[in-house]
Amino acid sequence: MKVRLSLALSLLLLAPLPARAGNGWSTVAYPLTGRPESIGSTSGGCIVGAATLPLVGDGYQAMRVSRNRYYGHPMLIRFVERLGRYAGAQGGRLLVGDLAQPRGGPMPGGHVSHQVGLDADIWFMQPPRGRVLNRQDIEAFGAPSMIVATEGALNHANWSPRYRDTLKQAALSPEVDRIFVNAIIKKALCDSETDRRWLSKVRPWWGHDAHFHVRLACPPDSGQCQSQKPFPPGDGCDPDLNNWVRDIVQAALAPKKPSHKKPRPPSTENLPAACYSVLNSQTAWRQQDSVKPNQAYAPYPASEPPN
Ligand SMILES: [Zn+2]
Repeated sequence: MKVRLSLALSLLLLAPLPARAGNGWSTVAYPLTGRPESIGSTSGGCIVGAATLPLVGDGYQAMRVSRNRYYGHPMLIRFVERLGRYAGAQGGRLLVGDLAQPRGGPMPGGHVSHQVGLDADIWFMQPPRGRVLNRQDIEAFGAPSMIVATEGALNHANWSPRYRDTLKQAALSPEVDRIFVNAIIKKALCDSETDRRWLSKVRPWWGHDAHFHVRLACPPDSGQCQSQKPFPPGDGCDPDLNNWVRDIVQAALAPKKPSHKKPRPPSTENLPAACYSVLNSQTAWRQQDSVKPNQAYAPYPASEPPN
């Protein structure tokens, strides 16, 4: 039976169906089954054999599940589950934002990356471990900012040493390539941390003041995965970072003046050719088979996230 199913699957893979109209990546409902493989780069790629993050687990909970973006390379799912157990052991519950769409690819609504199942957005704020948010709250709650942009400082009313501990735990995970946080948060860590070895992976970026963005390195099983350019050695606590913080403060003090360009919406044009058959291949399994643990929530109709 198993042999016949895989034969049927390979025949289907060999005969791609006509391309879907528009950006089919955000409407394809379930992963393409197969040996897990991240293909292409995080800002132009896709994934075969994505695993599904169970929506509620030990020490974590997925947010905005109506977007159907809780899929990733199995290594990413294991990472999120492990970080959840860590947060849980510290008394918190990790709130997990977007991972990837079922087959990766470009997402509508502002993300440029998250395309190969190796990226995860994780809220800084953690409710107590014992609190599980209901369906309404996971769609409606907003993530609180951890900075006071006009002062270039952490918002100590929202920040907690536990959030720093979780960030450090994530950065020390060997499969993590880098983590993006707001430059003001990075600067605060530069000014306060005595253990410097985990700071290099924490990279300054715009936004990312309410969640951090974890990016894993290409997994060994993914020969077509494009690695990111390595960042310079050192802890990254340098004059460039200070300039970045200064720019953010200035932009916050004079919000009408455009300070930097918004990234272009992701296009489907720079995807590796292999991704077109990933999108257009059907599998012998239906969504119900691959996302059983999540049936309580999924599928919701796709909706656009507010930016
Ligand atoms: Zn992100």
